[in-house]
Amino acid sequence: MQFIDLGAQYKRIEEDVRRRMDAVLAGQRFIMGAEVRELEEKLAAFAGVKHVVSCASGTDALVIPLMAYELTREDAVFVPSFTYFASAEAITLAGGTPVFVDSDPATFNISAESLETAISQVLDEGVLKPRGIIAVDLFGQPADYGAIADIAVRYGLFLLEDGAQGFGGILDGKRACSFGNVAATSFFPAKPLGCYGDGGAIFTDDSGLAALCESIRMHGKGTDKYDNVRIGLNGRLDTLQAAVLLAKIEVFEGELVARNRIAGWYTERLQDLFVTPTVIAEATSAWAQYTLQTVDGQDRNAIIGEMKKRGIPVMVYYRTPVHLATAYDDFGYCTGMLPVCEDQARRVFSLPMHPYLEESDVDAVCKVLREVVG
Ligand SMILES: *Cc1c(COP(=O)(O)O)cnc(C)c1O
Repeated sequence: MQFIDLGAQYKRIEEDVRRRMDAVLAGQRFIMGAEVRELEEKLAAFAGVKHVVSCASGTDALVIPLMAYELTREDAVFVPSFTYFASAEAITLAGGTPVFVDSDPATFNISAESLETAISQVLDEGVLKPRGIIAVDLFGQPADYGAIADIAVRYGLFLLEDGAQGFGGILDGKRACSFGNVAATSFFPAKPLGCYGDGGAIFTDDSGLAALCESIRMHGKGTDKYDNVRIGLNGRLDTLQAAVLLAKIEVFEGELVARNRIAGWYTERLQDLFVTPTVIAEATSAWAQYTLQTVDGQDRNAIIGEMKKRGIPVMVYYRTPVHLATAYDDFGYCTGMLPVCEDQARRVFSLPMHPYLEESDVDAVCKVLREVVG
């Protein structure tokens, strides 16, 4: 069994992918070909936003809007510690300072309460200036944007949605990547909507910000490609990857339905054994990961080792919350400062999750898991 079976999806869409890639090969427009614009329009319609700027990776989709905000080292950008490293790394790359925030015990997402505490602390210390918030749709579930947007407005901060795992999710009837001032997603192959290499996209209703992001994506171009008016980067999405995504977006809606059905099967079978994932009533997850937590007395490493021996891949996202990553050693964080996410990092493990799992596959995983736990 595979953790994410991209081959099963390819079997279904092979003809369309090949046809669209062949069209790119025939046209030879490998950079900013027509497929790139076509994809941006489809993504904007799907998410319900005015502007989409595609780019070279999910990391660039975070870095580019952060560059547009012209951060300095004195600017604090609040970010959950329980996330993929890139959510925080992007702040540092764009010149700002990440301030780490604890998670909600139920959803794994940024805790609005811990966020407000962190903002107050920064204001009291008076060294950094609060500038923005990055909220992450961890494992596919949108963060609590009602509460977070309210805090952003109250303190005059920008809000960036890191929807790298969240594209396709829904909150209060609105699609992920439509929250905050600007949102980012990733098309890394293993994400809910993935291409066949690296890719990403920026989403916003703010036309000024969209124009800045387009400029930064191409070496800070002005009216002309060779008129460089600011510092940018080479952050474009390849035409071939846009062609792949155009084929995949056709089946995406159905895949989201399948992911939700599969998550339901897992929860039904495992809720008496582990802490199963909580999706709040207002939300639908894109199920980038199906993540369990061990209860007291269970040995996570032993469970994972035994599962692997029996041919079932199990992964840990994430073993180290970012405030404890070696790269941020100099920032003065230590164990115990963000207790909820530190506890989650000790307990979590994720099961195989992709839209092409059958109920019999889920049965097999759960049967082995039950045996292993004893
Ligand atoms: C994958 C991911 C990113 C980075 O995306 P890349 O396309 O790999 O650069 C950023 N944030 C989160 C939460 C992610 O899961």
